[in-house]
Amino acid sequence: MSYIKSSDPEIATILESEATRQELGLNLIASENTVSRAVMEAQGSIMTNKYAEGYPAKRYYGGCEFVDQAEDIAIERVKKLFGVEYANVQPHSGSQANMGVYFSLLDPGDRILAMDLSHGGHLTHGAGASFSGRLYNFTHYGLNPDTETIDLNQVEDLAKSTRPKLIVAGASAYPRIIDFKCFADIAKATGALFMVDMAHIAGLVAAGVHPSPVGFADVITSTTHKTLRGPRGGIILSSDKHAKSISSQIFPGIQGGPLMHVITAKAVAFREALSPEFTEYQQQVVRNAGVLANVLMERGYKLVSNGTDNHMVLVDFSDRDITGKEAEERLGQANITVNKNTVPNEKRSPFVTSGIRIGVPLITSRGMKEEATRAIAGFICDILDDAANINKVAAQVKDLCSRYPLYEATTAP
Ligand SMILES: *Cc1c(COP(=O)(O)O)cnc(C)c1O
Repeated sequence: MSYIKSSDPEIATILESEATRQELGLNLIASENTVSRAVMEAQGSIMTNKYAEGYPAKRYYGGCEFVDQAEDIAIERVKKLFGVEYANVQPHSGSQANMGVYFSLLDPGDRILAMDLSHGGHLTHGAGASFSGRLYNFTHYGLNPDTETIDLNQVEDLAKSTRPKLIVAGASAYPRIIDFKCFADIAKATGALFMVDMAHIAGLVAAGVHPSPVGFADVITSTTHKTLRGPRGGIILSSDKHAKSISSQIFPGIQGGPLMHVITAKAVAFREALSPEFTEYQQQVVRNAGVLANVLMERGYKLVSNGTDNHMVLVDFSDRDITGKEAEERLGQANITVNKNTVPNEKRSPFVTSGIRIGVPLITSRGMKEEATRAIAGFICDILDDAANINKVAAQVKDLCSRYPLYEATTAP
């Protein structure tokens, strides 16, 4: 940051403001996390200067001997982490990973069965505004209205009636364990391929605190920056069977030169994810989410599916006056960042919503355990109960954050 300070004070000021915002706020966005200094160093490294279209030892540019080593190590580590035969570490994002898989397994117009966006699915699972909804013919499953968990009977019925070429499991807002075996059985029985998008839960899967889709899914996609705690990016995992077509659909199919600085940072993050500390971290994430869920329910708030198995909870305000939008705004005034979220059978617009999504990966990365999480859950309830508590809670948030620094010195040069 010291270079920017002298060359570009305008941007330096923005970076410092963002560092302070991250340091002094409680970030409970379920898809965000905070990377290690080592990951950040790799991502900010000279690898950004290198063009390396192609794959290790098969590049379209000279001078790739060292980026080849970095990409090979990233591939080896992530294969070991998840126990797979093939890994592609080049997708620029989770969305690119999904696009690469759709392009390699399907033709435009083919049928896909995936989770409904309003029930917790992702834009790339067939939303009309996404390339996926424009290119493919999606049918959507959702939650069972009684249990508010994925309705596997509906998945089976829809698979039988629509005969999709691909079934997708995976979600952006779903607090429960996903039964990959059941999905795989349905796919097998109906002649569909099965893809798991584990973008949100990849870190939990790597640590064994959520069942792995490996052995059940034909292809697995993920982001690397959510619970996996790496740089922003995507990966694709599969058996050797799909390796060739996936490789060619990522490059040259949908991407040009890979982001070698990001791939180098992925390698660093995968090494961290192979460590015992990472397993302990993910176990703590699940414990913290459980504490959060219990406090919210004790204080009378309704949670989608009445609890959580993973790193997030979804609060349902449909029987209350407060909306998701108001809750997000109120909490934001006390520097508690969450996002509004639709709930099952949502009656309000997607810009207003009747719920919020709260995730604990980032506060857990700061070292917060059960006691701190219980305090945070109390702050949230205080504010949701009564907006008059915002100022009182804002001071408590500041105090708590100062006791759990994000980095020893995020703003230091
Ligand atoms: C976050 C997410 C993605 C997309 O990731 P980006 O890197 O933002 O493109 C894809 N699928 C699911 C389920 C996600 O939660």
